[in-house]
Amino acid sequence: MSNAPRRSGRHFLQIPGPSPVPDRVLRAMDMPVLDHRGPDFGRLGLKVLAGIKTIFKTSNPVFIYPSSGTGAWEAALVNTLAEGDAVLMYETGHFAALWNTMAKKLGLVPEFIESDWRSGADPARIEARLRADKDRKIKAVCVVHNETATGSVTHIADIRKAMDAAGHPALLMVDTISSLGSMDYRHDEWGVDVSIGGSQKGLMLPPGLSFTAVSDKALAVSKSAKLPRSYWSWEDMQAINKTGYFPYTPATNLLYALAASIDMLHEEGLDNVFARHKRHGEATRRAVATWGLENQCAVARDYSHVLTAVRMPDGVNADTFRKIVLDHFDLSLGTGLSKVAGKVFRIGHLGDTNDLTILGALAGVEMGLEIAKVPHTKGGVGSAMQYLAETAKPFAS
Ligand SMILES: *Cc1c(COP(=O)(O)O)cnc(C)c1O
Repeated sequence: MSNAPRRSGRHFLQIPGPSPVPDRVLRAMDMPVLDHRGPDFGRLGLKVLAGIKTIFKTSNPVFIYPSSGTGAWEAALVNTLAEGDAVLMYETGHFAALWNTMAKKLGLVPEFIESDWRSGADPARIEARLRADKDRKIKAVCVVHNETATGSVTHIADIRKAMDAAGHPALLMVDTISSLGSMDYRHDEWGVDVSIGGSQKGLMLPPGLSFTAVSDKALAVSKSAKLPRSYWSWEDMQAINKTGYFPYTPATNLLYALAASIDMLHEEGLDNVFARHKRHGEATRRAVATWGLENQCAVARDYSHVLTAVRMPDGVNADTFRKIVLDHFDLSLGTGLSKVAGKVFRIGHLGDTNDLTILGALAGVEMGLEIAKVPHTKGGVGSAMQYLAETAKPFAS
């Protein structure tokens, strides 16, 4: 890095996670490392273990792992299932596919409802499959709330309703890694059994923490579940978490950061945070529509408030475009993953953002389209500005 020319100003990290970390969170982490078995740590542990429940909207335990989100995926499966168990998964996109691959590696038998990566999961297809499962072989239904590869949302309350309508006892497991802290999420009210979160997206933290919220039913099932587990064991966590401690060394400084981020989300007000993300999603989509480019999510009701995946016109490589934008404007856009590699780029509008950072990112995209000679109509940033101006409100004092 030392030979790189200095770039003035801030890098625009507009990928859909990791998202930019606010200065206040960085300062909260800038603390001496403390004894994780000492008295001060117990207070910090109790504080964040209670605080994170308010973000999942649950009164049940939430486990915090020193891991990326993928670790909490594994924790969800190994704590509740046995080798050979059938699980129903839905192919909303790349992240759903990765979870499906993990389930196979762990000795489960996932059934993958295939889809075209252009919408959230269809509750009717899940209901039909569960109704056909007369002898109740399916032990869990696993869906991704916000599919970060495509910008499509699955409506979790509708999935719960579909499962209830089928009268099926499977556990409901939801990946909320890229939606938690950005879009409304209700672990208890929506009847979710296992909800999985990560630190580096809506929670505005660096990567390195993952979360699992559980239901009473999931906890009960875990007592007799047969897959081997040790590091991920909920039982070990639950016992010692009661006093604010962990079975092994937690990511102590990230927990200081977590305490700050929970405070910040509540200071702004969760509903205001969600409304902000929704508004920035709409502004971004208006820009994309004006450019004449297509949203990867083809179902308006499923549009993500976290990111927008934009399809490139045929013959234009999205990664070539992304490189041009990065080289000229120090703006990182998300790459297209697996099936849509080179075909889409993703604009993150999550985390610690405001109207002007979103407009800055959209301006970088619009200028990049021009430099890369991507066929488009100018004025996307103008459309976004118009919408943001029309809907702007002064900050409440
Ligand atoms: C980012 C992400 C993951 C993977 O999380 P890691 O922290 O990279 O392990 C899984 N699912 C979704 C929906 C994500 O956005």
